[in-house]
Amino acid sequence: MAKKSTGLICSMCGSPDRPDNPVVQVFDGLNLCTDCIKFIEDARDSQLKKNKKKSGASEEVKWGEVPKPKEIKEFLDQYIIGQDEAKKYLSVAVYNHYKRVNQESGADDVDIEKSNIILVGPTGTGKTLLAKTIARLLDVPFAIVDATVLTEAGYVGEDIESLLTRLLQNCDYDVEKAERGIVFIDEIDKIARKSDNPSITRDVSGEGVQQGLLKLLEGSTVLVPPNGGRKHPEQKMIAVDTKNILFICGGAFDGIERKIASRLNTHVVGYGHDGGEMKKQRENLMRYVMPQDLKSFGLIPEIIGRLPILTSLEPLDKSALRRILTEPKNAIVRQYKKLFLLDGVKLEFTDEALDLIVSKAIEYKLGARGLRSIVETIMVDAMYEVPSEPIETFTVTADYVQDKLEKAHFEKTRIDSK
Ligand code: ADP
Repeated sequence: MAKKSTGLICSMCGSPDRPDNPVVQVFDGLNLCTDCIKFIEDARDSQLKKNKKKSGASEEVKWGEVPKPKEIKEFLDQYIIGQDEAKKYLSVAVYNHYKRVNQESGADDVDIEKSNIILVGPTGTGKTLLAKTIARLLDVPFAIVDATVLTEAGYVGEDIESLLTRLLQNCDYDVEKAERGIVFIDEIDKIARKSDNPSITRDVSGEGVQQGLLKLLEGSTVLVPPNGGRKHPEQKMIAVDTKNILFICGGAFDGIERKIASRLNTHVVGYGHDGGEMKKQRENLMRYVMPQDLKSFGLIPEIIGRLPILTSLEPLDKSALRRILTEPKNAIVRQYKKLFLLDGVKLEFTDEALDLIVSKAIEYKLGARGLRSIVETIMVDAMYEVPSEPIETFTVTADYVQDKLEKAHFEKTRIDSK
């Protein structure tokens, strides 16, 4: 038998009490139907969510908010020239990482393994830039640390856990945020052990550090010194769970081509007559890098196992360097143009001037990193004088570049790339 109507009317929408939308008395004078109660609850939830975002309260990176691999790569393309392979690997790895982070709360017992990454490629080819750009896209705490300062506990140098200090500092010690961050460990190749055989003597800056690093990479709760450096007993430590921290390692791995060559059973690189051919061979070989080459280079198998995504970066040739000068969203030339525009002056570079800058970067073996120092050297006089001059346009020509570099004795101050 159908329930008899109470005769109540919803004070909000005027709907009468019905079996499919009952009306209840909230308090004397206020009656609400089920639909209106739901409407109010939804509105409250959405407002609470908005307030939380506004106040910057730490929110988990939600699966739905993480861009798809193609979108990640498109974002990277705006800042990094070339390196398509590395970008693709990185995009997929980051996407999967957040998928994994999200699925942890699920009831499923299939455990997606952590996808830490190792980038192998010559210095100045964009390894750090890739990691930085990814962190910017995802808006998560990010820290760059140098593996060379680390030593095994008890020796001179920084304790391994201190590499999480930077991450904590970058998010004002919000541990929850840091536990979802990204750490870029640069120069991972410098902690390779000196020979392929397990050491007989102590190797405090190599194998010992790798062993220490292992527990961070695989995910465990570690005690981090809040101010970095070495732990000492009086210091209050911060416990950080590294389970969901994405580690991206980078290294030049100088000479690894020889290991690759011997594995592939090709000629050992570096003993030919034709320089161009040799260089080409070297560049091509890097693409075939495999985990066993990292082992031959001196990384311990356990570390390699914890860095399952291995990809390489290509050396930057002349045309890539030329594009780096002008194309990325924050390209050096664009930055200078903006600086001049703030003084109301239009800055122009002739094609020949840009070509010469690139040639100098190659000649002085400065790579992409050197482009900035060359442009700085060229522009310092103009930046000093132009703001006081009544001009509308300033054009940098090849002659101007040549003149400024000669005057600054640039070739004498050059630093050979590592
Ligand atoms: P790595 O970590 O490989 O030694 P970085 O990422 O620190 O090199 O590169 C140094 C600088 O050179 C970057 O800040 C950037 O200005 C420039 N650069 C290097 N590679 C690229 C690239 N592929 N695209 C755009 N800029 C690059």
